[in-house]
Amino acid sequence: MLFCLCRFFAILGLVAVASLADSAQASAWDIESDNFQIRTFVGGPSAVQLLQRCESLRADLQQVWFTAADRRDWSPRCQVFVHSTKSSYQTAVGRGAAQTSGSSLIQASGGKIVSRRIDLLYDVQKGASALPHELTHVVLADRFDDGRPPRWLDEGIATMADSPEKRTLHHRDCHNALRTGEALRVVQLLRLEQFTSAKQVPAFYGQSLSLVHFLADQGEPANLIDFAEAAIERGYDRALRDIYQIEGIEDLERRWRKYAWKMGPKAPQSLVLTIAR
Ligand SMILES: [Zn+2]
Repeated sequence: MLFCLCRFFAILGLVAVASLADSAQASAWDIESDNFQIRTFVGGPSAVQLLQRCESLRADLQQVWFTAADRRDWSPRCQVFVHSTKSSYQTAVGRGAAQTSGSSLIQASGGKIVSRRIDLLYDVQKGASALPHELTHVVLADRFDDGRPPRWLDEGIATMADSPEKRTLHHRDCHNALRTGEALRVVQLLRLEQFTSAKQVPAFYGQSLSLVHFLADQGEPANLIDFAEAAIERGYDRALRDIYQIEGIEDLERRWRKYAWKMGPKAPQSLVLTIAR
């Protein structure tokens, strides 16, 4: 299960917001903190330990990717559901869940996030291993209107929080895509929101991770978020010049490909390696 399910919804009107409040009230939480509400299952992971891990991961992710001014408490809190069975997980997450073990859902209304939710499928050996990846999506959403970063950035950064084994596979996918000529052009990668073929998926995740590494290496990691915001406002060509002194998307393509070939199939050290456990 290399890929994830992360979803964003912009809510229009009050009916949907009211139904969200109803569903939250219907749940009894095992434990709550300033930023999280946790629901696990009998015989599952300790709710206390899971909560501590969520708070600590959130703080670490904000430390790496945000400047101090952007590190705010969450209201509403993030609801985390741990599922013991695939059927419980799929019932909660719905369509598209079959190949995943983690899902995040952000709902926004009028430019404000109104719901944060993570669903995790528990595995006896691997635990709730999708947590760092899914939590990264929820953390990043704070910096974007309607909680929606560009997809390459969102997946590239979230994949950095995956286990070393998973990251190695993503880098191998990137290298294979370059080697076989099936790599996406950078201009395609930056704008891709929906996959049009199954073979785009491994290339997209691998290349997004590699591109995020490349750009994060050009300065402070938090610059990457400023870059994505600037690109939404004034386009990628201008944002590349303003933030990274790179002369547009074509220049980025040349520089990134050179970097990726030099890197080969091996995974560079993750900026968030210490928390990907
Ligand atoms: Zn993801």
